Amino acid sequence: TATIIDGKAFAATVREQVAQHVARLKADHGITPGLAVVLVGEDPASQVYVRSKGTQTTEVGMNSYEHKLPADTSEAELLALIERLNRDLSVHGILVQLPLPAHLDSDLVINAIDPDKDVDGFHISNVGLLGTGQKSMVPCTPLGCLMMLREHHGSLSGLNAVVVGRSNIVGKPMAQLLLGDSCTVTIAHSRSRDIEALCRNADILIAAVGRPEMIDASWIKPGATVIDVGINRIPHPDQPGKSKLVGDVAYDSAASVAGAITPVPGGVGPMTIACLLANTLTACSRAHGLPEPDGLTA
Ligand code: NAD
Repeated sequence: TATIIDGKAFAATVREQVAQHVARLKADHGITPGLAVVLVGEDPASQVYVRSKGTQTTEVGMNSYEHKLPADTSEAELLALIERLNRDLSVHGILVQLPLPAHLDSDLVINAIDPDKDVDGFHISNVGLLGTGQKSMVPCTPLGCLMMLREHHGSLSGLNAVVVGRSNIVGKPMAQLLLGDSCTVTIAHSRSRDIEALCRNADILIAAVGRPEMIDASWIKPGATVIDVGINRIPHPDQPGKSKLVGDVAYDSAASVAGAITPVPGGVGPMTIACLLANTLTACSRAHGLPEPDGLTA
């Protein structure tokens, strides 16, 4: 059966590396990286994510600034806050938690962030820089997937990679990163024909769909590496009234064929926040003209 790629353990080593760099920045330069997280409204899942980001930020020795705004915040108010954070020299990373309430234009808001502080990597400048192979801020979830793949495979050059899902947050930047590491990349999505056959061609299969346990053993080439980005809450099969988290991959079935696989939870999820911290450190190093941390960028 498949090797388990332990994202939880790997994320802990990434956080440890970040913490060491942060300690050195403080000792040698008197600099403390700062991350500002902006949450508008009271979406329960977003509140959990924001709390977790704040805790992990302070745990690695960085400053965390949380800005919680009411759900009826106007676009002008939100843009004014972002403008203030753009100018604030103690803030090296700015993250606006998505989704925003429907009356706010998230493209407009994200593109108001200083691209050098855009630790989510969603600003159009960063998207363009990534697409042209230039130094950028890279979206955290795909960056975490790339780190796990590099750790497991060493070189990815020449491997067939299939990314299922074409979102701006995961699928598209994931495909760009894999291209950057010289994979042959296919992006499959809801309109793809014979998607199972496409997937069976994959040495590396990335699932970023949001459909519980859609991908099973019959989609997977024997020995392939499977990275499951999906986080889906489903009714618990054995405990009535309870729920559980599953990925886009049917884990037990897939693990019987795959060479390596990430679990849900404990795979991509923890790596995503670790990469947010890594990106904040990178942004801080760049802002001060200092060398970037090794192994923590794309
Ligand atoms: P999204 O809804 O924006 O995009 C889903 C994509 O899947 C779309 O491009 C669509 O074309 C494709 N798709 C939908 N149905 C399909 C089908 N039947 N066959 C093939 N493709 C299909 O979602 P997203 O933001 O990219 O997130 C995807 C999943 O990853 C979600 O479960 C989300 O919760 C999870 N996620 C996890 C993390 C993490 O840190 N682990 C981060 C971001 C997203």
